[in-house]
Amino acid sequence: MENTKRYTVGVLIGYHVYEGSHPTPFAFPLIHGMQAAARDKNINLMVACGVIRGAALNLHRSAWPEPDPEMDFVPVGPWNTDGLVFIGPLRSEARIRYAQKLRDGGFPVVVLGNDAGPPAIVVDNEGGIRQVLEHLVGHGHKEIALIAGDEQDAGDSMARLNAYREGVREFGLSGDPRLMEFGQHWETGGYDAMRRIQQSGVKFSAVMCSNDLSALGAMRALREAGIRIPWDVAVAGFDDILESLAQVPPLTSVHYPLFETGYRTLLLLHKRITQGPGGVPDLTRITTRLVARQSCGCLPDVVAKSAGGADPNRIQADPASRGFKDELTHWMLEALLMEYPQSHGEDFFPLCERLADSFFRSLEDEDFAHFQSSLTEILQRVEMTDDESAQLWQSAVSVLRQAAYSVLDGKGDAARTRCAEDLLHQARMMLSESVDRRYTRLQARRTDLDESIGLLTARLISSPDEDQVYSALREDLPRVGVRTCHIVLFEPQGEDPVAVSLLHSVEKDAPTLRFETRHFPPPGLYPADEPFNLALLPLFSQEEEMGYVAFDGGNLDPLATLVRQLSSSIKNAQLHAKVLELSLRDGLTEVHNRRFFEIMLQKETERSRRYKRDLAVIMIDIDYFKRYNDAYGHPAGDEALREIARCIEQGARRGLDVVTRYGGEEFAIILPETDEGGAQIVAENVRTRVAGNPKFLRPTTVSLGIASLRGEQLQSQMLVEQADLAMYQAKSQGRNRSVVFEDWMREAEHTPKGGGNAEA
Ligand code: GH3
Ligand code: MG
Ligand code: MG
Repeated sequence: MENTKRYTVGVLIGYHVYEGSHPTPFAFPLIHGMQAAARDKNINLMVACGVIRGAALNLHRSAWPEPDPEMDFVPVGPWNTDGLVFIGPLRSEARIRYAQKLRDGGFPVVVLGNDAGPPAIVVDNEGGIRQVLEHLVGHGHKEIALIAGDEQDAGDSMARLNAYREGVREFGLSGDPRLMEFGQHWETGGYDAMRRIQQSGVKFSAVMCSNDLSALGAMRALREAGIRIPWDVAVAGFDDILESLAQVPPLTSVHYPLFETGYRTLLLLHKRITQGPGGVPDLTRITTRLVARQSCGCLPDVVAKSAGGADPNRIQADPASRGFKDELTHWMLEALLMEYPQSHGEDFFPLCERLADSFFRSLEDEDFAHFQSSLTEILQRVEMTDDESAQLWQSAVSVLRQAAYSVLDGKGDAARTRCAEDLLHQARMMLSESVDRRYTRLQARRTDLDESIGLLTARLISSPDEDQVYSALREDLPRVGVRTCHIVLFEPQGEDPVAVSLLHSVEKDAPTLRFETRHFPPPGLYPADEPFNLALLPLFSQEEEMGYVAFDGGNLDPLATLVRQLSSSIKNAQLHAKVLELSLRDGLTEVHNRRFFEIMLQKETERSRRYKRDLAVIMIDIDYFKRYNDAYGHPAGDEALREIARCIEQGARRGLDVVTRYGGEEFAIILPETDEGGAQIVAENVRTRVAGNPKFLRPTTVSLGIASLRGEQLQSQMLVEQADLAMYQAKSQGRNRSVVFEDWMREAEHTPKGGGNAEA
């Protein structure tokens, strides 16, 4: 893998990843799956994560690589990636067209969902919905309501809705139109849809929801209405997100292996990049299966019979033989890997082997301990990691169950069969407790995280300037599990509001990087020895798109809260800086004032000392300026002062040198990283611009004194004194000249100055 090219892949999602503070339970495992695949394949990954703005319930706010008032721009596009994953539903014509245009132009693209055409990866919606309806019909339901997805979505929503209509016909169910409402695939949408169905007065005994989130909302509405689930109304969802398990009663759902889907989607794109358009099929189907829990009316004892296609009845070997255990292990492994396709076969193998072995040993000895301890060990392991789920092992246990029945069947061994049933019952309990623990821990971790985020937020709010914002981040980000964070602000150029990026790293004293926005990341920003894994979230303030933040994608939980907080902190800091900036400018000439000179000189002195760099100062005094005033009056003198300030600004190096009005008719320039020679060039530049300027009412010149110091010897006061002495030398040598400080001038200071104001 080391010597192959490392590709960069981007992920664009048709809706937002963050609605509240945590990622949506649907996007979260999908992104995790893609991150795992990117890691395994040594791929750089950038995920564009849309965030809902403040209170504006602007649903489906996507982060997108084109400037558009409906979306937030982030630089994850064809210009800085080798391929893009589009996660549907894309939900807008503009987004669908964008994906299609890229694909038609030959750019590697894979679409999750079926709303933008091939190559697509789709979940078996029809099969899933049919299984649910068949199951509900099996429970005796005839009036089954549907909380559909999004009317605008031609992808999953449409497919699930059509499958429902098909099922209504096939099973001869009630087709009353009041039985169907759209719930937008969100919790609140599901809640409202359920209320509308109830208020319509239509009779129904079961509700099928197009996804789990809307099912959670529907359950809330039913509970509030005093309706008991599943006795009065049965409920089923789709997706099988972690939250479904934690419901009371646990939600019956269609298992959509989200992590696996994310993983496979990324692999597919990788294939498309490396093997060309012929390398991937037009359609890849993800199989689904019903997971019956209690919300549909099943009793707690019933577990999903299907073990993801594995069929232990096909085991040929004699149960007493070695071959039987090998085959059983193989089937369990197969069942696991169907749900978890990562290259962990070798990790799972010994666990499956132990589990199978201990199960039959427990049966043999009529001692539960063997089986209990091996399952406990597995679950502990599972609970340690984030990617795996105890649900996964459900399928392995199902294989065991079927194997046990096929072994015991017809043997008339009632005691053994009972023992096997007890063991399996216990396994189910342990698995469900484990899922519970995982859910509780997730919640607890989020509470901890919210606590740390709260502290960081408090610090950010009280940070008056950007430097303090960055230092708060630098110190507190590790505590919330975020390794890297770069804040990038847009700078418009011509018609393009996002043309240029100014990147601020939170690292101490890191320089601000300026680069073309679409070329993110600038070279060297991330270490070359490992692929980067980034989440890009837009920075916004009210309606203004400010830029984006590039976080490492290791912990997605705190990012939305951070980015919302950062948006307002940075905005505040900018406002504060503006006020400060005004107080540090000279009203007459509009260059910076003496106070700013002192602040900047101190700052630049410290920096130059630390990095052992040169620092120069030029003092400038207008020659015989009193006479200018005397001749033309003070207002004309003021005008001349302004003109001289312009000449100095033009003569200095833009963006590097700091031009200030030091006093009445004196100016000073601070020149970072500049030695005497460099400062002399600037000084002469300024001098000739003034001397050759026709705008003055009489020929006007300036005298300039130059001093430069470096390293240990650098002291701000000394630098100013030396430049001043050099300036007086320029005066006494006849004015209209620049003079570099030399040591002997210190002695000369004590002798009376020649020249003075006397003009010959
Ligand atoms: P030299 O520096 O060449 O020795 O002669 P000079 O005439 O410039 O020297 P001096 O320091 O004696 O005079 C400075 C004059 O600058 C005094 C004042 O009239 C003028 N000046 C200082 N501040 C301002 C200002 O804000 N506006 C105007 N119009 N004149 C100012
Ligand atoms: Mg003066
Ligand atoms: Mg003067």
